[in-house]
Amino acid sequence: NSPLHELDPDVAAAVDAELHRQQSTLEMIASENFAPVAVMEAQGSVLTNKYAEGYPGRRYYGGCEHVDVVEQIAIDRVKALFGAEAANVQPHSGAQANAAAMFALLSPGDTILGLNLAHGGHLTHGMKINFSGKLYNVVPYHVDAETGLVDMDEVERLAKEHRPKLVIAGWSAYPRQLDFAAFRRIADEVGAYLMVDMAHFAGLVAAGLHPSPVPHAHVVTTTTHKTLGGPRGGVILSTAELAKKINSAVFPGQQGGPLEHVVAAKAVAFKIAAGSAFKERQQRTLEGAKLLAERLTQPDVAEAGVAVLSGGTDVHLVLVDLRDSELDGRQAEDRLHEIGITVNRNAIPNDPRPPMVTSGLRIGTPALATRGFTADDFREVADVIAEALKPSYDAEALKARVTALADKHPLYPDLTK
Ligand code: PLP
Repeated sequence: NSPLHELDPDVAAAVDAELHRQQSTLEMIASENFAPVAVMEAQGSVLTNKYAEGYPGRRYYGGCEHVDVVEQIAIDRVKALFGAEAANVQPHSGAQANAAAMFALLSPGDTILGLNLAHGGHLTHGMKINFSGKLYNVVPYHVDAETGLVDMDEVERLAKEHRPKLVIAGWSAYPRQLDFAAFRRIADEVGAYLMVDMAHFAGLVAAGLHPSPVPHAHVVTTTTHKTLGGPRGGVILSTAELAKKINSAVFPGQQGGPLEHVVAAKAVAFKIAAGSAFKERQQRTLEGAKLLAERLTQPDVAEAGVAVLSGGTDVHLVLVDLRDSELDGRQAEDRLHEIGITVNRNAIPNDPRPPMVTSGLRIGTPALATRGFTADDFREVADVIAEALKPSYDAEALKARVTALADKHPLYPDLTK
């Protein structure tokens, strides 16, 4: 038995049960992934014990000689991975990265332009009760009701009308690529900073399969645990000119001691993300999402009132529109959960239902690609989902197909006791 099992069987049992859940079901939450064991080893290391306020070479604590090495490796690797002039790897999460970046660039009361939450933006892009909505004057932009694409004419019009200090481009639920050059042109026209939050698509960018925001933005924020596949955490990339401001906004502005065990895990993840196997995995991620969108736009699915927002996808996720389906977002999420597929319900633009119910699903492929799913496997998953969303469905048969896929691609075999 492990020390955890000896000391705390209650927590150990829950951890074991979660491992079993991850192994036996199909994870299709678009923001999730499976961190490699090496990443988790770094994250579970003795570095958790070390206080290291400050930055490599300039710490407020003694004994930082080894965490300095780790943090500098992480900084150098992420700069090289994305071609950035400067990087801060200390933000505890994506939300913290955004808070610090905004703290660096803005004063309370300044105006920011961000994608509306219900149209795919993140909480930190200006939601009313988030810090971003409370501290700053938020002007939201939207997607076009017809095309489902970000309405760049509206972005330009709002920018000229409200003259924001910061324009935020980025999303949590959007199936297409943004035009970073157009965002920068608009930001420049009104003298605003451009911040791109690439939390969702950072892995695709690292693999060279999605345009990079780095050449266009003043600041790029990201999480490290979504398509990037590392530990939970955040990163801020910036121009060299803004580096000092960003560093002081993270510490001491927003955070105290950095989580050096997580920084170590980020460093490992950046090494993996620079390799060819990572690129191949991101290719399967994109292919899987395309196959899913194709299947969910077939006539038999349309007949059940199920549609795909924007008609397809260019990224790692598909947004399912259930406005004409007999299922609402919650029921569809439950239906897929019943057969062993985990997704999340999601508000869609102009959603007629409340946020706890919604009329949409967000379905992503990064975790299954990490698990080794091939195009054929994704075709099978797509068909299972299509069948599950129809009014008459055979839960037992679909569950058996899910189990067969899970068994075909064992997850964390070495962690199973
Ligand atoms: N930014 C975007 C675009 C996100 O989708 C998310 C998380 O969902 C975040 C930031 C926040 O990341 P975290 O949950 O690590 O705070």
